[in-house]
Amino acid sequence: MRDNHPLPISLVPTPTRQFNRAFDQRQSNRQSTLPALKLVRSTDRDDAAPAAPPPGTEPPRFASRALIYKQDPTVEEIGIRKILLNGAFQEGPRSARIEVRGVSPVAPNAMNDFIQAPGTEGFDTVHTFSIVHEALAMCQRTLGKPIRWQWNGGGDSTPIEVFPRAGETMNAFYSRDEQCLKFFFFEAPGPTPATVFTCRSFDIVAHEAGHAILDSLQPDWLDADADPQCGALHEAFGDLIAIFLALSQSDQVEALIVQTKGDLHNKTFLSDLAEEFGLALGRDNGLRNADNDKRMSEVSSEVHDLSQVFTGGIYDVLADAFELERGLGRDTEAQTLMRVSQTIFSLVLEAFRSAPERNASFADVVSGMAALCPKEGQGPGYRRAILNQFARREVIDVKAAAGNKKGASIASVRHAHLGVKANGLQDRSGCCGTLRLREYSAADRAFAGEVKALADGLGGRKATAGGTQAEAAE
Ligand SMILES: [Zn+2]
Repeated sequence: MRDNHPLPISLVPTPTRQFNRAFDQRQSNRQSTLPALKLVRSTDRDDAAPAAPPPGTEPPRFASRALIYKQDPTVEEIGIRKILLNGAFQEGPRSARIEVRGVSPVAPNAMNDFIQAPGTEGFDTVHTFSIVHEALAMCQRTLGKPIRWQWNGGGDSTPIEVFPRAGETMNAFYSRDEQCLKFFFFEAPGPTPATVFTCRSFDIVAHEAGHAILDSLQPDWLDADADPQCGALHEAFGDLIAIFLALSQSDQVEALIVQTKGDLHNKTFLSDLAEEFGLALGRDNGLRNADNDKRMSEVSSEVHDLSQVFTGGIYDVLADAFELERGLGRDTEAQTLMRVSQTIFSLVLEAFRSAPERNASFADVVSGMAALCPKEGQGPGYRRAILNQFARREVIDVKAAAGNKKGASIASVRHAHLGVKANGLQDRSGCCGTLRLREYSAADRAFAGEVKALADGLGGRKATAGGTQAEAAE
């Protein structure tokens, strides 16, 4: 068609002679320039494929938002906060590691977020799930690897079950046999009856999740016939998880710095468990007993009493390390506190993990922490704080602490009054529900021991090669 109607040449714009000369000039210049530089990101090395992130640190592909209580709802100035849960979540909420049970499942909204109204069962369900998830995630981030539950392994990847409404009693516990965390509710004593839900306490949920996590890393530490310090380390670990989990939340840390002017020994720093929550954990003032001056000679062998020496020592180390770093002016106070608490928590967690499998003592964990302190930067200052604080509390020998070389074992101080009871078991009368569960009480082992002792006893029918005497006579 076009051929039939050719455009007149006068209508076709053609380059002028000047244009052609300029074009040739530009082309010849272009030939002499270097090839364009390959675009690389500042983190890439030349011609190297980007390094794969270490296992467990791959960027999450899924995430959901959730609402939780900042602290116990009965504590003044309680707030609600949004958190981002990294991972893939299903109705429940449910993840590959954690399943909520015993309540109506909560469905995610169209944005895959779990948003419920405060004060409802749905809110409590999301809150409880979220804190267990966050406690586990914090430990996994710190160790750089996923942490299995105690029963996992050998193809078993059964998740832990979490019961926000486990029943009506004043209790909360972690059970290895039932593979679950149970949070109960009860009517608060007092003139105005009100139901207290233990799952609403950030501290209680974090504390019990701590027992579950430590039971995976150190499965023999819950045995009631171990040294009382071993049980006390379990109780202390639960409290430390609650403290360090609170300190991993930037809005919480910011508020705490403002509220206390950066004084970690200001009592408002730590959450005060409401009295009724305290009853559920078997104590009167929640985490506030973390800031104490108790020494080994001042406590009894009751496991929770004993645990306060260790928790208090770690808390003092945190306060010392914060003082060491806050004057450097590199970061804001809140940023400094978050960074310091991450460092101290990683020392704590690594030292718990590498401590002896049975009868671990406070001194074992303290030595582990001191050995893990880096030599450069603030490391020597951290190490000094660890040794000084635990020498002051009569956990380690002062002279050994003063002259200790990095890596050498640190002498523990013997305290004759801190042994097991006459029956060979720990006194756990002041502990949370976990340590008072029968499954860790060594009762079954004691039972088996008695049966064995009976077999070696006097009297009864004598066994012969062909059976008992009676059978042989027949
Ligand atoms: Zn406990």
